[in-house]
Formats: sequence, C-alpha cells, structure tokens
Amino acid sequence: MEVETRRQYLRRIASVDQALEAPGIKQLMKSYSRGLVVESVREAIDELRSSILEAGSEAALKRIPLEGKALVGPVRQRIEALYASNLKTVINATGVIVHTNLGRSILSDEAVAEVEMVARHYSNLEFDIPNGRRGSRHVHVEKLLVKLSGAEAGMVVNNNAAAVLLALSALARRKETIISRGQLVEIGGAFRIPDVMSQSGSKLREVGATNKTRLADYRDAISDKTGLLLKVHPSNFQMLGFTQEVTLEELVALGAEFGLPVMEDLGSGVLVDLSDFGLPYEPTVQLSVQSGADVITFSGDKLLGGPQAGVIVGKKLYIDKLKKHPLARAVRVDKMTLAALEATFRGYLNPSIALKENPTLRMMVATKEQMAKKASALAKAIEKAAGEAFEVTCEDEVSRAGGGALPLAELPTVVVALKPTRMSVDALEARLRGSAPAIIARVKEDRLLLDPRTIQDGEDKQIVEALTKAAL
Ligand SMILES: *Cc1c(COP(=O)(O)O)cnc(C)c1O
Repeated sequence: MEVETRRQYLRRIASVDQALEAPGIKQLMKSYSRGLVVESVREAIDELRSSILEAGSEAALKRIPLEGKALVGPVRQRIEALYASNLKTVINATGVIVHTNLGRSILSDEAVAEVEMVARHYSNLEFDIPNGRRGSRHVHVEKLLVKLSGAEAGMVVNNNAAAVLLALSALARRKETIISRGQLVEIGGAFRIPDVMSQSGSKLREVGATNKTRLADYRDAISDKTGLLLKVHPSNFQMLGFTQEVTLEELVALGAEFGLPVMEDLGSGVLVDLSDFGLPYEPTVQLSVQSGADVITFSGDKLLGGPQAGVIVGKKLYIDKLKKHPLARAVRVDKMTLAALEATFRGYLNPSIALKENPTLRMMVATKEQMAKKASALAKAIEKAAGEAFEVTCEDEVSRAGGGALPLAELPTVVVALKPTRMSVDALEARLRGSAPAIIARVKEDRLLLDPRTIQDGEDKQIVEALTKAAL
C-alpha cells in the first residue's frame, strides 16, 4: 500500500473542533461536562488514527468510517463506560462461601441497615452523647466484643493483617518474637508472617522444625531480647503425620513464667462452635480467651460473617497499649465498618438467631437435604426454560468454607450439573460470566456446576434467565 494513501486517510480524520460541531457530540454536551466530552473526542480521534496506521490493506482502510458523526458512537461509549459501575453484583454459584475474589462475607440485613444509617446521617461516632464530650470510636463494639468473647478488652482495626502488624509493633518492636517454624504461614495475597514481622520492627526468632515444635524449643529461645510469644493458627492448610505443636495454654504458662505477653493470630475467628453442626472443629475466640492469651486477633469477614475488619481482644493492659500506638490511627476502621460490625456482633448475642440471619453462618450450616431441595427446584426451572440446550442432572458434590478457613472441610452438597449440547462447557462458563449480573460457576470435566449453597434467594430466576439467553 502506498504511504500516500494512508496519509490521505489520516488527513481526512475530523479535527477536534470539527467533531465538536457534530450534532451527536453537541447532544452529549447537554448531559456531560464539556471537558469530559472534549477529552473523549480526543481519545476517539487518537484511536481512529491508530487504526489507520495499523490497517494492513487499502480495503481495510476503506472500512474505517471517517466522518465526524462516526465519532459519536465511540465517544458515547467511552463516557458511558466511565459512568458504569465497575464494582458490581455477581452471583456466586461456586459453593465457596468465604470467596476471597468475590468479596468474602456478605452482610446480614441488619448490618446493611446499620451501614446505611451511619452513611446517611451524622452519628455519635466519636461523641459521648450523655456527657456532651468527645468520645471514642472503640466503645461502639467493645462492650459487645467483651461480652461475646469473655475478654477484658477489645478493639477493631482495618483488617487482621493490620491487627497483627499493630500488635507486633506495639508489643515487640526492637525485640524478638518467638514463633514455631510450622507457623510461618502465608495467607493469600502476600501476607506472610515473616514479612509482617519485619515491617513491625520485631525480630523473628524461629524455633522447632516445620512439623514438630516442643515447649522446650520456646523455652530455650527466651532471652532478655524476647518481647513476645506468638502462635499463628494455620487457617489455610493442615499438617498431617508426624507432627507436634505446643498448645496455647502451654505457651501462656511459659509466658507467665518469664513475664512475656502471648499472642494468638486466630485467622478466621469463630464465635460459635461449628462442630455442633457436623463441621470440623475450628477453635473459637472464647476458647483462646479462656486459655489466657494476652492478645488475640482475627478477621471480621471470614467465618465471622461481618465486614472487612481486624478484631483484637485480650487483656486490658495490652489492648490499651495498642489503642495508644501511633499506628492505630493509620489502621483505624471507618464508621460504616463499625456499624456493620456492631450489628454482626449483636446477632451473636443469640447464636441460634445468628445461624439463621448471618449469611456466612447460614450457608456454613445448611444441610445436604436443604441443598438437594434447592438444586432440584433450580434444575426443574432450567429444564423447563432451556431443557433442549443442556443435559441437566443433580449430583452430590462438596462446598467449601474458603477464605483461609477450615481448609479441609468438605460440606456435602447437591449441585445442578449442566452439560451443554450446543457449545463447549468453557463457552457456557464464559457466557454466564459475561451476563449481568455475572454468574460465577465451577467447571468440572465437561460440565458446569451450580452449587445452591452460595446462591442467594431470588438469584435462581436470574440464573435461569441467563442460561436461557446463553442457550440461544
Ligand atoms: C486471613 C488471615 C490473616 C489476614 O487477615 P485479613 O483480615 O485478610 O487481613 C492473617 N492471619 C491469618 C492466620 C489468617 O488466616
């Protein structure tokens, strides 16, 4: 192709001023700011220029529309994409309850209502109403936290990673923190205990071996440089076989002997004993408190089923130190988090209600029989709407807790399995992901699995609609 041909095309592109005179662009100026429209016109023109430069043949050049009005569509699309919400609802059909990529826990209706209340109105976030004085944002959850956990004191920060960082900084800066080699864990997304420790300015003192650590290993490592004894709950893996670890009680006794604080990073942190519901035992916060640990940290949005937060409970002496530390301000929680957390904790005052109203707990304890019923209803609806496009069956499967909690727990469930008759299963998965709301499902061999455990009320209908469209 002649260089001159391409040049001619480039010359024919409308200038920004010309494009701004096009009626369609003038129309856009009525709804959007002039600056935004002008910038979008510039970007659309740049894009046109690139497509001319990249066109491989004259025929391809001819297909590129050059009139000023041809810019209207691309300009409108750019502006609308900017206005469209990027964070959107998705339907979680994976059966992974605390799904880290899908926003971890969803909140109870009560928690959502409290969030809306503090978002819409002024509140007593840091105001002591009875005394007309400045108040503390910690008080809103501390009372509940103390009551539920049995600890002397409590506070909340941005997330559990921040809780660990704050505690190590406040209790063991420029000192050694002793931890078992079996607990130097990585929690997804670059949270590694040794890295957090170096950030805090505490020196890591590893003891024992990967699979076995004895109390004597801790004892031998204690010196005048020691600041803290740390235990980290292995929330996303399990060690099997020839293993041994020191219990929290033993560590607490050792700490008392040497006057050293003992901290436990519980990870998920549950307030109800899930083994009562046939689930594997996950140590409760109350048990850690009873064991005498000085500081215990856990996440708000894992099995607790609340907002993203790092919850810290323990002895008043240490919690007060944490509250006063300069980092506390840097990792403090927002009022909306506090509102959601207060409502979440309040739900736990009556555990049998929490099991019904806290979505995370409700999904955890839902039985296989309940799932079978839901799966069967969903399967029937799919068959009725788009039966010819899929082979629909109900199959026994397992759901997972997810989110670095109960790593080996398999929650028996019944899923709807779809084998598409007209497209590949990967194409079906992509189409569902592209629907609005996006439906995220699991693919197993040549079938797509929809697990009712994490599908919320009312979402069945949306799934059937999306499948009907996908089948076309
Ligand atoms: C999940 C987890 C963390 C990090 O908690 P976030 O709330 O995600 O910051 C820290 N420690 C353990 C043991 C965990 O399981």
